[in-house]
Amino acid sequence: MHIRQSFDIVSLFAGFPTRNPVLRPFLAAIGLLVQLLVLLMLPLAASQAQEARPATLLLENVRVIIGDGSVLQDAAMLVADGRIVSVGQRSNMEVDESVEIIDLNGKTLVPAFIDSHAHLGYEGHRSWGGSNYSRDNLIDHLQRYAYYGFSAVFSAGSDPDTLALEVQQAQLRGDFDAARFLFAAGMAPPGQGPNDQFLVHALALEQQTGQKILYGVANAEQATEAVQQIAAKKLSVIKIWVDDRGGSQQKLSQDLYREIVAAATQNGIEVYAHQQYASDMPGLIEAGVTGFLHGRIGADLGMDIARQLGQAQAFVVPNMGLGELRREAIGLDPFLQQSLPEAVAARLLESDRRSRIPLRSTAVEAELQASFAALLDAEVDILLGTDAGAVPDHFFGYTGHRELEIFVRLGMTPMQAIVAATSKPAQRLGLDDLGLLRPGYSADFMVLENNPLEDIRNTRSIESVYLNGRALDRERLAEGFTH
Ligand SMILES: [Zn+2]
Repeated sequence: MHIRQSFDIVSLFAGFPTRNPVLRPFLAAIGLLVQLLVLLMLPLAASQAQEARPATLLLENVRVIIGDGSVLQDAAMLVADGRIVSVGQRSNMEVDESVEIIDLNGKTLVPAFIDSHAHLGYEGHRSWGGSNYSRDNLIDHLQRYAYYGFSAVFSAGSDPDTLALEVQQAQLRGDFDAARFLFAAGMAPPGQGPNDQFLVHALALEQQTGQKILYGVANAEQATEAVQQIAAKKLSVIKIWVDDRGGSQQKLSQDLYREIVAAATQNGIEVYAHQQYASDMPGLIEAGVTGFLHGRIGADLGMDIARQLGQAQAFVVPNMGLGELRREAIGLDPFLQQSLPEAVAARLLESDRRSRIPLRSTAVEAELQASFAALLDAEVDILLGTDAGAVPDHFFGYTGHRELEIFVRLGMTPMQAIVAATSKPAQRLGLDDLGLLRPGYSADFMVLENNPLEDIRNTRSIESVYLNGRALDRERLAEGFTH
């Protein structure tokens, strides 16, 4: 309707009747120009119209992994207005002619994943640092997540808050389609925070933008004040750095993090911890942190700490890929190459560091598996998180799929790994309409060519990604990422 009206306007303009011989060619030229502009805008108008009103879809003949540990075979899922209407047997679903029916021929639906630990904005693919942080770069990173089948990502304490809030608002208005953006306020002793290389960039970015990223606290008074400032900005999570970064920074003392957690709790704010050592975990659990962004799985994290974590219902993000993938030749991986600029893929291939496949000692692997088993035994919520973007070349989305492989290698079933990537992080991050394929939930899911319950690496066989009931144009996205 809209489009036809614009055509009418064009034809009016192009054929504008005038007797003035000077004006006539001028108006005709304007008419042509308008016509050209409208033609250029048509695809845009069409895509916007599509975006405004998601189609009613029936996906049938499909395996549905719900996200809670259960699976339906030979099932169907009905989606309308961006939400899931029903999931179950096709014969129980009545649909009229307006519904688009997609026969998925035995493929698999799985809820879109959630990354519970990342740092957005700094990766520029040709460089890494605070100077890359911008609205556009943030959206690019969220779109990379979407491309790899993610519905949300939590950026852990490294975002300039005013800009980050603006991007959240823009996303709520529907200005762009991408994984949902969550972020936390960062807190550490004054002038400290992330790893030394990262810290320099975060501090410079604060200077450059005049916005707050890191709250430096040296005593109880400052802790209370900082928490109140964060509450006034309506941020719901504080990320604290507790460790000494291998001796180069001052540790956040137990007294101080107790103050921070107490003040935060009073204000309805949760505290997530970055801790270097498992030995710091009992004190932090006792103080009441919600979860740990670095699992420190291994010999130091045994059944005792696992039980404490389970009893306190504190979550753990193991982040195993951060150490492992940096020593791997990931530039050779076609699944990553899909989203990498050629120059970056080439650089990764040349890099010596990435050409050595690490030999894991069987002793260390056994310790990791024992520690992981302790967490599973104690029913600790293990969440998918990657720390993507915290260091150069630890890429968004891709690393999430790789982390799930590590989860399975260390003892999870593929089903448990998928729960760790979907409903668990959704519950923990307060995303109450994500992480499950159930009626009423947002229609955010992947269509997988192959069954990930048979082999977790099949999460890579992404045929399509839907967010809010709309299929992403992954080809167009990849085109943008690779150039
Ligand atoms: Zn981190």
